Amino acid sequence: MESHKVWYNYFYSMTTLTHIAVGAVIAKAALSKHNIHADPLITYAVAILFSNLPDMDIPLYGLRRAVRLNWNHRIHSFLHFPLFWVAGMILFQFLAPATIRQTVHPYETIALVSLGVHFLMDTFGLHRGICWFGPFLKKQLSFTRLVSEPGLFRSSIALYSRSVIFKAEMILCVACIFFLLMRS
Ligand SMILES: [Zn+2]
Repeated sequence: MESHKVWYNYFYSMTTLTHIAVGAVIAKAALSKHNIHADPLITYAVAILFSNLPDMDIPLYGLRRAVRLNWNHRIHSFLHFPLFWVAGMILFQFLAPATIRQTVHPYETIALVSLGVHFLMDTFGLHRGICWFGPFLKKQLSFTRLVSEPGLFRSSIALYSRSVIFKAEMILCVACIFFLLMRS
């Protein structure tokens, strides 16, 4: 079992912490619109949850199993294909009972934006991109140049800390904290 490989998954692109911070910003921005009829606590919960939902396949599948079977969630998991969520949203609109649709209606746009922003952030990849057209096309797309994974965990951390992704992540996190601390 190559344990360092487990952690490579984490440095493919921006990390969970940044997805959480951006989710909270999406919630605050949505709530600052005075015509929104949504519960603030649920809005934050939905935005943060959907900002991280595509990555939930990793704990569900099991990190150790993923490494053993060389499973990469960006290529092999439906949860990390944007088209899966588009199809899910369309099916939900047609098949869900009206009462459920009415209940979730104030949070639909927030969930969609959170998902979209997750995939946009992941498109700034270090080692992996996003299969925007998966499962039909498995080509990984990235705004940034992808580099191959080094053999050691320490090298992986060093590479990540020198990368433009890490710098962008730091700037984004600081900007999110400022925005969240600002009075609305
Ligand atoms: Zn992701």
